Amino acid sequence: MATAAVRGFKDILPGEVSYWRKIEETARDTFRVSGFQEIRIPILEKTEIFARGIGEHTDIVEKEMYTFTDRSGDSLTLRPEATAGLLRAVIEHKLYGRQPLLKLFTMGPMFRHERPQKGRLRQFHQINAEAIGTVAPAADAEVIWMAWRILERLASGAMRIELNSIGCPLCRPFHREDLILYLSRISAKLCTECRRRSKTNPLRVFDCKNDPCRELMQRAPLLQHYYCPECGDHFAEVIRILKRLDIPFVINPYLVRGLDYYVRTTFEITSPDLGAQSTVAAGGRYDGLVKDLGGPDLAGVGMAIGVERLILLMDRAEADHAIDLFICALGPTARKKAVPWIKNWRNNGVSAQMSYEDKSLKAQMKQADRTGARQVVIVGDNELEKGIVTVRDMVAHEQRDVSVDEVVELVEDIVRSPY
Ligand code: ATP
Ligand code: MG
Repeated sequence: MATAAVRGFKDILPGEVSYWRKIEETARDTFRVSGFQEIRIPILEKTEIFARGIGEHTDIVEKEMYTFTDRSGDSLTLRPEATAGLLRAVIEHKLYGRQPLLKLFTMGPMFRHERPQKGRLRQFHQINAEAIGTVAPAADAEVIWMAWRILERLASGAMRIELNSIGCPLCRPFHREDLILYLSRISAKLCTECRRRSKTNPLRVFDCKNDPCRELMQRAPLLQHYYCPECGDHFAEVIRILKRLDIPFVINPYLVRGLDYYVRTTFEITSPDLGAQSTVAAGGRYDGLVKDLGGPDLAGVGMAIGVERLILLMDRAEADHAIDLFICALGPTARKKAVPWIKNWRNNGVSAQMSYEDKSLKAQMKQADRTGARQVVIVGDNELEKGIVTVRDMVAHEQRDVSVDEVVELVEDIVRSPY
Protein backbone atom coordinates (compact mmCIF):
# COMPACT_ATOMS: atom_id res chain seq x y z
CA MET A 1 0.00 0.00 0.00
CA ALA A 2 1.24 3.49 -0.82
CA THR A 3 2.22 5.72 2.10
CA ALA A 4 -0.11 8.66 2.70
CA ALA A 5 0.79 12.11 4.04
CA VAL A 6 1.10 12.64 7.80
CA ARG A 7 -2.29 13.13 9.50
CA GLY A 8 -3.22 16.81 9.64
CA PHE A 9 -0.65 17.73 6.98
CA LYS A 10 -2.27 18.69 3.72
CA ASP A 11 -1.12 18.91 0.13
CA ILE A 12 -2.04 22.07 -1.71
CA LEU A 13 -2.84 20.81 -5.17
CA PRO A 14 -2.26 22.70 -8.45
CA GLY A 15 -5.96 23.60 -8.73
CA GLU A 16 -5.89 25.30 -5.30
CA VAL A 17 -2.59 27.13 -5.61
CA SER A 18 -4.22 30.04 -7.43
CA TYR A 19 -6.12 31.20 -4.35
CA TRP A 20 -3.05 30.81 -2.16
CA ARG A 21 -1.24 33.07 -4.58
CA LYS A 22 -4.08 35.56 -4.57
CA ILE A 23 -4.03 35.67 -0.77
CA GLU A 24 -0.27 36.15 -0.65
CA GLU A 25 -0.38 38.88 -3.28
CA THR A 26 -3.22 40.74 -1.57
CA ALA A 27 -1.45 40.52 1.79
CA ARG A 28 1.85 41.71 0.31
CA ASP A 29 0.12 44.61 -1.37
CA THR A 30 -1.67 45.63 1.83
CA PHE A 31 1.60 45.43 3.79
CA ARG A 32 3.41 47.47 1.14
CA VAL A 33 0.95 50.35 1.27
CA SER A 34 1.05 50.23 5.07
CA GLY A 35 4.86 50.32 5.24
CA PHE A 36 5.44 46.78 6.55
CA GLN A 37 8.58 44.98 5.39
CA GLU A 38 8.91 41.25 4.85
CA ILE A 39 11.13 39.09 7.04
CA ARG A 40 11.68 35.36 6.47
CA ILE A 41 12.60 33.24 9.46
CA PRO A 42 13.26 29.53 10.05
CA ILE A 43 10.42 27.17 10.90
CA LEU A 44 12.57 25.44 13.53
CA GLU A 45 13.66 27.15 16.75
CA LYS A 46 15.14 26.12 20.07
CA THR A 47 12.27 24.93 22.24
CA GLU A 48 13.03 27.50 24.95
CA ILE A 49 11.97 30.30 22.58
CA PHE A 50 8.39 29.05 22.67
CA ALA A 51 8.38 27.89 26.28
CA ARG A 52 9.55 31.35 27.38
CA GLY A 53 7.60 33.27 24.79
CA ILE A 54 4.18 31.63 24.63
CA GLY A 55 4.16 30.52 28.28
CA GLU A 56 4.53 27.14 29.99
CA HIS A 57 0.88 26.91 30.99
CA THR A 58 -0.77 27.35 27.63
CA ASP A 59 -2.43 24.73 25.46
CA ILE A 60 0.21 25.25 22.79
CA VAL A 61 3.23 24.62 25.00
CA GLU A 62 1.61 22.02 27.22
CA LYS A 63 0.24 19.76 24.52
CA GLU A 64 0.45 21.00 20.95
CA MET A 65 4.13 21.44 20.07
CA TYR A 66 6.16 19.27 17.73
CA THR A 67 9.24 19.03 19.90
CA PHE A 68 12.13 16.65 19.37
CA THR A 69 15.75 16.17 20.29
CA ASP A 70 18.03 16.41 17.30
CA ARG A 71 21.23 14.45 16.69
CA SER A 72 23.25 16.97 18.68
CA GLY A 73 20.99 16.52 21.70
CA ASP A 74 19.33 19.96 21.37
CA SER A 75 15.62 20.31 22.02
CA LEU A 76 14.05 21.86 18.93
CA THR A 77 10.46 22.72 18.06
CA LEU A 78 8.62 23.27 14.80
CA ARG A 79 7.18 26.72 15.30
CA PRO A 80 3.56 26.73 16.50
CA GLU A 81 3.30 30.48 15.85
CA ALA A 82 5.47 33.19 14.34
CA THR A 83 5.86 35.97 16.89
CA ALA A 84 8.37 34.36 19.25
CA GLY A 85 10.75 33.35 16.44
CA LEU A 86 10.36 36.68 14.70
CA LEU A 87 11.28 38.53 17.87
CA ARG A 88 14.22 36.17 18.35
CA ALA A 89 15.45 37.32 14.94
CA VAL A 90 14.84 40.99 15.77
CA ILE A 91 16.89 40.61 18.96
CA GLU A 92 19.63 38.50 17.37
CA HIS A 93 20.20 40.96 14.52
CA LYS A 94 19.51 44.03 16.66
CA LEU A 95 17.08 45.24 14.00
CA TYR A 96 15.71 47.78 16.48
CA GLY A 97 19.12 49.52 16.43
CA ARG A 98 18.64 50.66 12.86
CA GLN A 99 14.99 51.57 13.11
CA PRO A 100 13.33 52.48 16.39
CA LEU A 101 9.99 51.37 15.00
CA LEU A 102 9.92 48.07 13.15
CA LYS A 103 6.97 47.12 10.99
CA LEU A 104 7.46 43.53 9.82
CA PHE A 105 5.42 40.81 8.19
CA THR A 106 6.03 37.16 7.42
CA MET A 107 4.02 34.24 6.07
CA GLY A 108 4.43 30.51 6.19
CA PRO A 109 3.60 27.20 7.85
CA MET A 110 2.99 26.67 11.58
CA PHE A 111 2.76 23.31 13.35
CA ARG A 112 0.50 22.23 16.20
CA HIS A 113 -0.38 18.72 17.29
CA GLU A 114 -4.14 19.22 17.57
CA ARG A 115 -7.06 17.06 16.54
CA PRO A 116 -7.48 17.62 12.78
CA GLN A 117 -10.97 18.79 11.76
CA LYS A 118 -12.56 21.50 9.64
CA GLY A 119 -10.41 24.61 9.99
CA ARG A 120 -7.87 22.79 12.15
CA LEU A 121 -4.75 21.19 10.76
CA ARG A 122 -1.42 20.14 12.17
CA GLN A 123 0.47 22.04 9.56
CA PHE A 124 -1.38 25.26 8.79
CA HIS A 125 -0.35 28.63 7.41
CA GLN A 126 -0.41 32.11 8.81
CA ILE A 127 0.16 35.62 7.58
CA ASN A 128 1.71 37.62 10.42
CA ALA A 129 2.38 41.27 10.98
CA GLU A 130 4.15 42.85 13.93
CA ALA A 131 4.74 46.50 14.87
CA ILE A 132 7.65 46.51 17.33
CA GLY A 133 8.99 49.41 19.38
CA THR A 134 5.83 51.34 20.19
CA VAL A 135 3.16 51.48 22.88
CA ALA A 136 1.05 53.85 20.80
CA PRO A 137 -2.61 52.83 20.48
CA ALA A 138 -2.34 53.92 16.85
CA ALA A 139 -0.17 50.84 16.21
CA ASP A 140 -2.83 48.53 17.70
CA ALA A 141 -5.44 50.16 15.50
CA GLU A 142 -3.24 49.94 12.42
CA VAL A 143 -2.57 46.23 12.90
CA ILE A 144 -6.29 45.50 13.33
CA TRP A 145 -7.15 47.69 10.36
CA MET A 146 -4.60 45.86 8.20
CA ALA A 147 -5.91 42.41 9.15
CA TRP A 148 -9.42 43.65 8.41
CA ARG A 149 -8.35 45.13 5.07
CA ILE A 150 -6.71 41.91 3.89
CA LEU A 151 -9.76 39.87 4.88
CA GLU A 152 -12.20 42.38 3.44
CA ARG A 153 -10.43 42.22 0.09
CA LEU A 154 -10.53 38.43 -0.05
CA ALA A 155 -13.36 36.93 1.97
CA SER A 156 -16.97 36.97 0.91
CA GLY A 157 -18.45 35.55 4.11
CA ALA A 158 -19.71 37.61 7.05
CA MET A 159 -17.00 38.69 9.49
CA ARG A 160 -16.67 40.73 12.62
CA ILE A 161 -13.90 42.08 14.80
CA GLU A 162 -14.15 41.27 18.50
CA LEU A 163 -12.05 43.53 20.65
CA ASN A 164 -10.96 43.54 24.27
CA SER A 165 -8.21 44.77 26.52
CA ILE A 166 -6.82 42.31 29.03
CA GLY A 167 -5.00 44.94 31.08
CA CYS A 168 -1.37 44.83 32.09
CA PRO A 169 0.80 43.32 34.85
CA LEU A 170 -0.17 46.30 37.02
CA CYS A 171 -3.92 45.84 36.95
CA ARG A 172 -4.20 42.12 36.26
CA PRO A 173 -3.16 40.83 39.72
CA PHE A 174 -6.23 42.46 41.32
CA HIS A 175 -8.50 40.86 38.78
CA ARG A 176 -6.69 37.56 39.10
CA GLU A 177 -7.30 37.47 42.85
CA ASP A 178 -11.04 37.97 42.43
CA LEU A 179 -11.17 35.57 39.50
CA ILE A 180 -9.46 32.80 41.48
CA LEU A 181 -11.95 33.35 44.27
CA TYR A 182 -14.86 33.14 41.84
CA LEU A 183 -13.42 30.04 40.18
CA SER A 184 -12.99 28.30 43.53
CA ARG A 185 -16.70 28.84 44.20
CA ILE A 186 -17.83 27.34 40.91
CA SER A 187 -15.03 24.77 40.72
CA ALA A 188 -17.32 21.74 41.11
CA LYS A 189 -19.29 22.72 38.02
CA LEU A 190 -16.29 23.38 35.76
CA CYS A 191 -14.87 20.87 33.30
CA THR A 192 -11.75 18.98 34.39
CA GLU A 193 -9.58 21.06 32.09
CA CYS A 194 -10.90 24.32 33.53
CA ARG A 195 -10.46 23.10 37.06
CA ARG A 196 -6.82 22.58 36.22
CA ARG A 197 -6.60 25.93 34.43
CA SER A 198 -8.09 27.65 37.50
CA LYS A 199 -4.84 26.82 39.25
CA THR A 200 -2.27 27.21 36.47
CA ASN A 201 -3.69 29.97 34.26
CA PRO A 202 -7.09 31.21 35.52
CA LEU A 203 -7.64 33.74 32.74
CA ARG A 204 -7.68 30.87 30.24
CA VAL A 205 -10.96 29.60 31.71
CA PHE A 206 -12.63 32.41 29.72
CA ASP A 207 -11.38 30.66 26.57
CA CYS A 208 -13.09 27.31 27.30
CA LYS A 209 -15.29 26.17 24.43
CA ASN A 210 -17.65 24.08 26.63
CA ASP A 211 -21.11 25.60 27.06
CA PRO A 212 -21.49 24.95 30.83
CA CYS A 213 -18.14 26.63 31.53
CA ARG A 214 -19.01 29.54 29.24
CA GLU A 215 -22.32 29.97 31.00
CA LEU A 216 -20.60 30.05 34.39
CA MET A 217 -18.02 32.55 33.15
CA GLN A 218 -20.79 34.98 32.18
CA ARG A 219 -20.87 36.01 35.84
CA ALA A 220 -17.11 35.95 36.39
CA PRO A 221 -15.30 39.18 37.30
CA LEU A 222 -14.34 40.97 34.08
CA LEU A 223 -11.01 42.62 33.44
CA GLN A 224 -12.69 45.78 32.22
CA HIS A 225 -13.57 46.67 35.81
CA TYR A 226 -9.94 46.48 36.90
CA TYR A 227 -8.05 48.53 34.30
CA CYS A 228 -5.44 50.91 35.65
CA PRO A 229 -5.82 54.46 34.28
CA GLU A 230 -3.14 53.85 31.61
CA CYS A 231 -4.81 50.68 30.36
CA GLY A 232 -8.21 52.37 30.36
CA ASP A 233 -6.89 55.33 28.33
CA HIS A 234 -4.99 53.10 25.96
CA PHE A 235 -8.04 51.00 25.17
CA ALA A 236 -10.25 54.07 24.77
CA GLU A 237 -7.82 55.50 22.24
CA VAL A 238 -7.64 52.26 20.22
CA ILE A 239 -11.43 52.36 20.07
CA ARG A 240 -11.48 56.02 19.01
CA ILE A 241 -9.02 55.42 16.16
CA LEU A 242 -10.88 52.36 14.88
CA LYS A 243 -14.09 54.38 14.86
CA ARG A 244 -12.39 57.18 12.96
CA LEU A 245 -11.19 54.62 10.42
CA ASP A 246 -14.72 53.30 10.13
CA ILE A 247 -13.58 49.78 10.99
CA PRO A 248 -16.50 47.82 12.45
CA PHE A 249 -15.93 46.03 15.76
CA VAL A 250 -17.72 44.84 18.84
CA ILE A 251 -16.29 44.84 22.35
CA ASN A 252 -16.17 41.36 23.78
CA PRO A 253 -15.19 41.63 27.45
CA TYR A 254 -14.84 37.83 27.67
CA LEU A 255 -12.20 37.63 24.97
CA VAL A 256 -8.80 36.36 26.14
CA ARG A 257 -6.10 34.76 24.03
CA GLY A 258 -4.42 31.37 24.27
CA LEU A 259 -0.91 32.77 24.55
CA ASP A 260 0.48 34.21 27.77
CA TYR A 261 2.36 37.10 26.24
CA TYR A 262 -0.61 39.33 25.52
CA VAL A 263 -1.30 42.55 27.42
CA ARG A 264 -3.90 45.23 26.80
CA THR A 265 -5.37 45.02 23.29
CA THR A 266 -6.52 41.60 22.14
CA PHE A 267 -8.72 40.91 19.17
CA GLU A 268 -10.15 38.20 17.00
CA ILE A 269 -11.83 38.37 13.64
CA THR A 270 -14.54 35.75 13.51
CA SER A 271 -17.03 34.48 10.99
CA PRO A 272 -20.22 32.48 11.63
CA ASP A 273 -19.58 30.80 8.26
CA LEU A 274 -16.58 28.92 9.70
CA GLY A 275 -18.48 26.66 12.11
CA ALA A 276 -16.80 25.63 15.35
CA GLN A 277 -13.38 27.06 14.45
CA SER A 278 -14.78 30.52 13.88
CA THR A 279 -11.66 32.66 14.29
CA VAL A 280 -9.95 33.58 11.04
CA ALA A 281 -7.48 36.10 12.47
CA ALA A 282 -6.28 37.07 15.91
CA GLY A 283 -3.71 39.17 17.66
CA GLY A 284 -2.87 41.69 20.28
CA ARG A 285 -0.25 43.58 22.18
CA TYR A 286 2.78 41.91 23.82
CA ASP A 287 4.75 44.63 25.58
CA GLY A 288 6.91 42.47 27.86
CA LEU A 289 7.77 39.77 25.35
CA VAL A 290 10.92 41.15 23.71
CA LYS A 291 12.44 41.59 27.16
CA ASP A 292 11.34 38.10 28.27
CA LEU A 293 13.16 36.72 25.25
CA GLY A 294 16.38 38.42 26.32
CA GLY A 295 16.12 41.61 24.28
CA PRO A 296 15.60 45.26 25.20
CA ASP A 297 12.32 46.44 26.70
CA LEU A 298 10.41 46.97 23.47
CA ALA A 299 6.66 47.06 23.19
CA GLY A 300 4.89 45.40 20.29
CA VAL A 301 1.58 44.50 18.75
CA GLY A 302 0.79 41.93 16.07
CA MET A 303 -1.73 39.83 14.26
CA ALA A 304 -2.01 36.47 12.54
CA ILE A 305 -4.41 35.45 9.80
CA GLY A 306 -5.11 31.73 9.40
CA VAL A 307 -4.82 31.11 5.67
CA GLU A 308 -6.75 27.81 5.54
CA ARG A 309 -9.68 29.40 7.38
CA LEU A 310 -9.55 32.43 5.10
CA ILE A 311 -9.78 30.11 2.11
CA LEU A 312 -13.00 28.68 3.56
CA LEU A 313 -14.45 32.21 3.41
CA MET A 314 -13.47 32.89 -0.19
CA ASP A 315 -15.38 32.46 -3.40
CA ARG A 316 -13.16 29.91 -5.00
CA ALA A 317 -12.79 29.73 -8.73
CA GLU A 318 -9.91 27.82 -10.20
CA ALA A 319 -7.58 29.95 -12.24
CA ASP A 320 -7.48 29.48 -15.98
CA HIS A 321 -4.32 27.56 -16.74
CA ALA A 322 -4.77 27.54 -20.53
CA ILE A 323 -1.58 28.13 -22.46
CA ASP A 324 -1.27 30.55 -25.36
CA LEU A 325 -0.27 28.11 -28.02
CA PHE A 326 0.54 24.51 -28.77
CA ILE A 327 2.68 23.46 -31.64
CA CYS A 328 1.97 20.16 -33.38
CA ALA A 329 5.25 19.29 -35.06
CA LEU A 330 5.17 16.18 -37.24
CA GLY A 331 8.33 14.48 -38.41
CA PRO A 332 11.98 15.01 -37.45
CA THR A 333 12.73 18.13 -39.53
CA ALA A 334 9.63 19.96 -38.33
CA ARG A 335 10.35 19.05 -34.71
CA LYS A 336 13.91 20.38 -34.96
CA LYS A 337 12.61 23.59 -36.47
CA ALA A 338 9.92 24.03 -33.83
CA VAL A 339 12.16 23.88 -30.75
CA PRO A 340 13.87 27.28 -31.30
CA TRP A 341 10.47 28.80 -32.09
CA ILE A 342 9.22 27.66 -28.71
CA LYS A 343 12.33 29.08 -27.06
CA ASN A 344 11.71 32.40 -28.80
CA TRP A 345 8.04 32.55 -27.78
CA ARG A 346 8.75 31.59 -24.20
CA ASN A 347 11.54 34.16 -23.90
CA ASN A 348 9.00 36.74 -25.02
CA GLY A 349 6.46 35.68 -22.41
CA VAL A 350 4.20 33.59 -24.64
CA SER A 351 3.29 30.25 -23.08
CA ALA A 352 4.07 27.65 -25.72
CA GLN A 353 4.30 23.86 -25.64
CA MET A 354 4.83 20.90 -27.90
CA SER A 355 4.67 17.21 -27.21
CA TYR A 356 7.89 15.55 -26.07
CA GLU A 357 7.46 12.75 -28.55
CA ASP A 358 6.71 12.67 -32.27
CA LYS A 359 3.12 11.43 -32.33
CA SER A 360 0.32 11.42 -34.89
CA LEU A 361 -1.46 14.68 -35.70
CA LYS A 362 -4.57 13.29 -34.05
CA ALA A 363 -2.70 12.51 -30.82
CA GLN A 364 -1.00 15.89 -30.78
CA MET A 365 -4.24 17.75 -31.44
CA LYS A 366 -5.80 15.89 -28.53
CA GLN A 367 -2.94 17.02 -26.32
CA ALA A 368 -3.30 20.60 -27.60
CA ASP A 369 -6.97 20.46 -26.65
CA ARG A 370 -6.17 19.30 -23.12
CA THR A 371 -3.80 22.21 -22.56
CA GLY A 372 -6.58 24.59 -23.50
CA ALA A 373 -4.31 26.30 -26.06
CA ARG A 374 -6.09 29.07 -27.92
CA GLN A 375 -3.82 28.85 -30.96
CA VAL A 376 -2.32 25.75 -32.51
CA VAL A 377 0.53 25.81 -34.98
CA ILE A 378 0.68 22.74 -37.19
CA VAL A 379 3.93 22.04 -38.97
CA GLY A 380 4.98 18.90 -40.86
CA ASP A 381 7.97 18.05 -43.00
CA ASN A 382 5.83 18.40 -46.15
CA GLU A 383 4.63 21.88 -45.23
CA LEU A 384 8.16 22.94 -44.47
CA GLU A 385 9.23 22.01 -47.98
CA LYS A 386 6.55 24.38 -49.24
CA GLY A 387 7.64 27.00 -46.73
CA ILE A 388 4.30 27.19 -44.92
CA VAL A 389 2.75 26.28 -41.58
CA THR A 390 -0.90 26.19 -40.51
CA VAL A 391 -2.14 28.37 -37.67
CA ARG A 392 -5.45 27.30 -36.20
CA ASP A 393 -7.51 29.51 -33.92
CA MET A 394 -9.13 27.06 -31.51
CA VAL A 395 -11.62 29.63 -30.23
CA ALA A 396 -12.86 30.98 -33.56
CA HIS A 397 -12.42 27.59 -35.28
CA GLU A 398 -10.57 29.20 -38.19
CA GLN A 399 -7.28 28.32 -39.74
CA ARG A 400 -4.89 29.80 -42.24
CA ASP A 401 -1.52 29.11 -43.80
CA VAL A 402 1.34 31.45 -43.08
CA SER A 403 4.90 31.54 -44.31
CA VAL A 404 7.54 29.82 -42.19
CA ASP A 405 9.61 33.00 -42.03
CA GLU A 406 6.75 34.97 -40.52
CA VAL A 407 5.37 32.43 -38.12
CA VAL A 408 7.29 33.44 -34.99
CA GLU A 409 6.29 37.09 -35.10
CA LEU A 410 2.85 36.58 -36.52
CA VAL A 411 1.79 34.07 -33.90
CA GLU A 412 3.12 36.33 -31.18
CA ASP A 413 0.96 39.17 -32.55
CA ILE A 414 -2.12 36.95 -32.68
CA VAL A 415 -1.58 35.75 -29.12
CA ARG A 416 -1.16 39.29 -27.86
CA SER A 417 -4.22 40.68 -29.59
CA PRO A 418 -7.31 40.66 -27.37
CA TYR A 419 -9.90 37.94 -27.81
P1 ATP B 1 -8.19 28.49 18.08
O1 ATP B 1 -8.93 29.06 19.21
O2 ATP B 1 -8.99 28.40 16.83
O3 ATP B 1 -7.46 27.24 18.42
P2 ATP B 1 -5.78 29.93 18.56
O4 ATP B 1 -6.13 30.90 19.61
O5 ATP B 1 -5.07 28.70 18.94
O6 ATP B 1 -7.08 29.56 17.71
P3 ATP B 1 -3.83 31.63 17.33
O7 ATP B 1 -2.69 30.99 17.99
O8 ATP B 1 -4.22 32.96 17.76
O9 ATP B 1 -5.07 30.65 17.36
O10 ATP B 1 -3.60 31.62 15.75
C1 ATP B 1 -4.13 32.62 14.89
C2 ATP B 1 -4.94 32.02 13.79
O11 ATP B 1 -4.28 30.92 13.20
C3 ATP B 1 -6.26 31.46 14.22
O12 ATP B 1 -7.22 32.46 14.32
C4 ATP B 1 -6.59 30.50 13.10
O13 ATP B 1 -7.11 31.20 11.98
C5 ATP B 1 -5.23 29.97 12.74
N1 ATP B 1 -5.03 28.67 13.39
C6 ATP B 1 -4.63 28.41 14.64
N2 ATP B 1 -4.52 27.09 14.86
C7 ATP B 1 -4.84 26.49 13.68
C8 ATP B 1 -4.90 25.14 13.24
N3 ATP B 1 -4.59 24.12 14.04
N4 ATP B 1 -5.28 24.89 11.96
C9 ATP B 1 -5.60 25.90 11.12
N5 ATP B 1 -5.55 27.19 11.47
C10 ATP B 1 -5.18 27.49 12.73
MG1 MG C 1 -5.64 26.71 19.36
